[in-house]
Amino acid sequence: KSEGRGTWRFFEREMDAQMQARRRLELDLRRALAEQEFQLLFQPLVHVGSRRIIGFEALVRWHHPERGLISPAEFIPLAEETGLIMPLGEWVLHTACREAASWPEQVSVAVNVSAVQFRSPLLVDAVAAALRASGLPGSRLEIEVTESIMLQDNVATLAILHRLHGLGVRISMDDFGTGYSSLSYLRSFPFDKIKIDQSFVRDLDKQGDARAIVSAISGLGRSLGMSTTAEGVETQEQFEQLRADGCLEAQGYLFGRPMPARDASALLRHQRAVQPAG
Ligand code: C2E
Ligand code: MG
Ligand code: MG
Ligand code: MG
Repeated sequence: KSEGRGTWRFFEREMDAQMQARRRLELDLRRALAEQEFQLLFQPLVHVGSRRIIGFEALVRWHHPERGLISPAEFIPLAEETGLIMPLGEWVLHTACREAASWPEQVSVAVNVSAVQFRSPLLVDAVAAALRASGLPGSRLEIEVTESIMLQDNVATLAILHRLHGLGVRISMDDFGTGYSSLSYLRSFPFDKIKIDQSFVRDLDKQGDARAIVSAISGLGRSLGMSTTAEGVETQEQFEQLRADGCLEAQGYLFGRPMPARDASALLRHQRAVQPAG
C-alpha cells in the first residue's frame, strides 16, 4: 500500500513538473512576441514542368533564448490553446506579405492559418489589413488551411472562404489525405489547391499504394479545377514519379529548404537572370 502511495506521489510530481514546464513555455511565448524571437522562413514551391519557382510557403520559427530553436509542431498547439495564435498569426501575415511585396519576381506567398485562427471573426480583417499595409495584391497570397476547419460550423466556414476569395486570395487545402478527408469537402468548399501530404510523397519511390494515391489526388484536382502540390519531395525519383502522375507543383528539400527572406529574394533574382519569365 505504501508503495502504491509512493507511485502516486511520483505521478503527482511528474504532472506538476509537466504543468510547470508548460506554464513556463506559455509565459515564454508571451514574451517572445514582444521580444521578436520569431522568424519567418520561406520554402520554394516549383512548377513541376519547368522547375521554376512559382511561390514560397512562409514557415514560422521560434528562437528561444535558452532552449534554442523550437519547432512550430511544439509551440503552435500551445499558442492555439492560449489564444496567442491570434497576435502570432497576425505577425506572420504581415511579415509574409511585406517580404513578398519586396521580391524581385511577382510570385505568391503561402501562409498557414490554424483552425483556431480560422474560427475567429477577425481573420478576414487581419488578412485585408496585411494586404493593405504591404501593398501586396490579394492574388499573390495563398492561405493554407487543414481539414480540421471542416469540423466546425460549415456555413460559417464557407462564408469565410468566400470573403477571402473576395479579397482575391487563393485557398489551399494543406496535408490532404491525413485528417478527416472527405471527398465531399472538395466539392462543397471552394479550394483552389490541394497539397498532397508528404507521407504519400515519401513512399513514392517505394513499391506500394502511394503512387496510386498521388496519381488519384492529382486527377481529382484536375477534374475539379484545382491545382495540386506535392509536399516533402526529397529525391529525383519522387519528382519524376510526380511528373508522370500529373501533379502540377512540388515543394521539398530537393528544391530548397525553408530559408531566410533574404535568400528567397536572392534565389528569385538568380532565377530571373538565368531563366526569364515567359
Ligand atoms: P506544413 O504547413 O505542412 O508545412 C510543411 C512542413 O514540412 C514544414 O515543417 C517544412 O519545413 C517541412 N518540409 C518541407 N519540405 C520537406 C521535405 O522535403 N522533407 C521533410 N521531411 N520535411 C519537409 P515545419 O516548418 O516544421 O512546419 C510544421 C507545421 O507547422 C506546418 O506544416 C504547419 O502546419 C505549421 N506551421 C508552420 N508555420 C506556421 C504558421 O506561421 N502558422 C501556423 N498556424 N502554422 C504553422
Ligand atoms: Mg502548409
Ligand atoms: Mg503540409
Ligand atoms: Mg504538415
